[in-house]
Amino acid sequence: MLQNVLIEREIYASEEHKMMQEMIQDFIKNEIMDHLDEWEKNGMVSRDIWERAGALGLLCIDMPVEYGGSGLDFSFSALFIEELGKKGITGPGFSLHSDIIAPYLLKYGTETQKQKYLPVMASGKMITSLGMTEPNCGSDLKAIKTTAVNKGDHYLVNGQKTFITNGYMSDMSIVAVKTNPGTDKEGVSLLIMESTFDGFEKGIPFKKIGMKAQDTCELFFDNVKVPKENLLGEEGLGFKIMMTELARERLTVALNAIGGAQGAIEQTIAYTSTRTAFKKPIAGFQNTQFKLAECATQLQIHQAFLDRCTLLLAKHKLSAESASMAKYSATDMHNKVVDECLQLFGGYGYMWDYPIARMYADNRVARIYAGTNEIMKLLIARGLFKELFQEMKAIKKKP
Ligand SMILES: Cc1cc2nc3c(=O)[nH]c(=O)nc-3n(C[C@H](O)[C@H](O)[C@H](O)COP(=O)(O)OP(=O)(O)OC[C@H]3O[C@@H](n4cnc5c(N)ncnc54)[C@H](O)[C@@H]3O)c2cc1C
Repeated sequence: MLQNVLIEREIYASEEHKMMQEMIQDFIKNEIMDHLDEWEKNGMVSRDIWERAGALGLLCIDMPVEYGGSGLDFSFSALFIEELGKKGITGPGFSLHSDIIAPYLLKYGTETQKQKYLPVMASGKMITSLGMTEPNCGSDLKAIKTTAVNKGDHYLVNGQKTFITNGYMSDMSIVAVKTNPGTDKEGVSLLIMESTFDGFEKGIPFKKIGMKAQDTCELFFDNVKVPKENLLGEEGLGFKIMMTELARERLTVALNAIGGAQGAIEQTIAYTSTRTAFKKPIAGFQNTQFKLAECATQLQIHQAFLDRCTLLLAKHKLSAESASMAKYSATDMHNKVVDECLQLFGGYGYMWDYPIARMYADNRVARIYAGTNEIMKLLIARGLFKELFQEMKAIKKKP
């Protein structure tokens, strides 16, 4: 039904994309949907689902074949993210693992690091997470307090991370730390930390208002010895690396949002076409028609913009500003669409068994994580007033 009004998206029009889409839809229908309740009860998904996704080539989709990936371009990863979004699948943090951690390793890792981690990640036998946020800092990442003291052949790491997606199940985490703390060489660096390292502990998964099958938790580091060869990229360049790679993370969140909005609209068209009030279908009221017409319009506008961003990312040309626009605008749109759709379900929309209710609770966080939508606007504004910001920075530095 929705297909009748949406322009076919060139980006997913090839035979390969259509075959992949079919395979993903079967995977979700046959291997995920029936487990949602059980996973939510457990606060996490099963390890099997990671390995199954790996076996189907759905992890590390755009990583090179020589490192176990599927060797496809980012549009195939985008397709997987959107399909998961359509069905509101938020338990397994596949995208963080495949589309954020794996590219960090591919771009900044040594050959040994790539060989060691990428193939096991692509198979789903190793689950990964990204540790940036700390209890006292999220938006202001430069203020992190986790330290890594140089001890010759290793770093001694102490500190804590919070709100870590895949945290409880993860076998390896890329962690942002302060190296050379208290010296003039102090800077942010990234370390590859395996969860089996002595002194690396995990908290129990948080109780959240949504994404109940996602094992988001704290990570604790108490005198953890991290071998020097586990430094990712150059010492002190961690912040720069994170800022560069965040464009990709933001696009993945935006893609999930447009998938989610599409799923919500499709469900609502189906529901309002059969549910009746005052002897006619809910879809027969002009209010319903107008609300869904507005939602479909917003969806299509965002699809067009994100298709452009996806192509730019594949060419390594997506700017921080465009990625920020995509993230804040798509997640705002998604939240509004789901809210309008839920309203059209009436009381049933508030019942957990209805996917629209889960979507409502699950997707609120998208305006917060991967950088809040306020921070996205700050980044866009920095681009708009580039010279002014540089002058202000220079004035601040003057004694
Ligand atoms: C479910 C979930 C999963 C997550 N997964 C991960 C993960 O895998 N890895 C990870 O490292 N982190 C993760 N996070 C953390 C997430 O990225 C942070 O919560 C987010 O960046 C915001 O940081 P904060 O919570 O410290 O909020 P704060 O930084 O304390 O912000 C609070 C409020 O102040 C506003 N604010 C802050 N600074 C400014 C400013 N300069 N101008 C205007 N407004 C401002 C913010 O927009 C926000 O509204 C996750 C969070 C959640 C909830």
